[in-house]
Amino acid sequence: SDLQHICIGCGVKVQTEDPEKIGYAPASALEKETIICQRCFRLKHYNEVQDVSLTDDDFLKILNGIGKTDALVVMIVDIFDFNGSWLPGLHRFVGGNKVILVGNKVDLLPKSVKHNKLIHWMKQEARELGLRPEEVFLVSAAKGWTMKETAAAIDEYRDGKDVYVVGCTNVGKSTFINRIIKEVTGEGDIITTSHFPGTTLDIIQIPLDDGKSLVDTPGIINHHQMAHFVDKRDLKVITPKREIKPMVFQLNEGQTLFFGGLARFDYVSGGRRSFVCYLSNDLNIHRTKVENADELYEKHVGEMLTPPRQEHLETFPELVKQEFFIKEAKTDIVFSGLGWVTVNEPGAKVIAYVPKGVQALLRKSLI
Ligand code: GDP
Repeated sequence: SDLQHICIGCGVKVQTEDPEKIGYAPASALEKETIICQRCFRLKHYNEVQDVSLTDDDFLKILNGIGKTDALVVMIVDIFDFNGSWLPGLHRFVGGNKVILVGNKVDLLPKSVKHNKLIHWMKQEARELGLRPEEVFLVSAAKGWTMKETAAAIDEYRDGKDVYVVGCTNVGKSTFINRIIKEVTGEGDIITTSHFPGTTLDIIQIPLDDGKSLVDTPGIINHHQMAHFVDKRDLKVITPKREIKPMVFQLNEGQTLFFGGLARFDYVSGGRRSFVCYLSNDLNIHRTKVENADELYEKHVGEMLTPPRQEHLETFPELVKQEFFIKEAKTDIVFSGLGWVTVNEPGAKVIAYVPKGVQALLRKSLI
């Protein structure tokens, strides 16, 4: 039975069904004398970590474990989806350990964004969410921006201890760690992972030069992420690939914007004004009148208003609405995982529609 199949790398129970879940190995691997899961295999042979996801309960176990060890914690968030990719409750689990907060994918933000200002914003948000990081970095793991500085800070703050890298799926944790591996080892070989005897930790350890480890934890599936509700192929549509170009819409009261069929923005009152949309450039924005919007959605979701795809309409959650009154200048209406709409002047009443389970919220303008 599966019970006997334990990965010699990370100690996880091996399964052969789902390549994206923890412990996956192809069925053929079970015939070998020593079994290694795909994630450890990739690290061993290609010096590459691969993201796998864990259920909430198992992830909590790992977090609990971190609190009991003496380590540095590096938490990665997707700067394009800051709130949606936050790990709630992390601060309760880190115990007395220091935390470095890394905002990844900064390459997606318009060049005009002042990084220092954004870092300040991240510190404030983190504090409000209960976390007091030692340092905050803005990086692009994909492009290698600020990775050297971040690696250096990690090395300084770890002070001879292990490093745990945590983040929910899709924040770019694997890309980040793969960069760090290159920084730390050059192109040299990484000898993988020998698991802690007698435990199943589901984590893989990447050796650092002083005998300590950089520990890759599985990503947690954050159920509020928009990514959860779209087809894999459509992830490419909603995830920006390059710098987002802000789109300005002059709206009259009573006008609606559809963001594909995934979200809807109603401008209720506040006089004619402009709204700046920060969304993937590939996402289709459709403008209509509020009075026609329900019917239009009913008729055209899955075709003109897509994603979602026709074949997924049955399982796609209904859009639920949330009303906001903008009291302060420079406010973002955030459609978690899709992007945001910036309102520059106060006094507007708007309604945000998102799939049930996804978050819509207001924040002080990021940019
Ligand atoms: P993980 O699930 O957290 O391990 O994330 P991955 O490393 O697999 O990355 C998730 C997605 O984000 C992939 O499509 C990556 O190409 C993309 N990604 C990762 N880092 C960056 C980055 O710095 N900038 C941009 N634009 N995309 C990134």
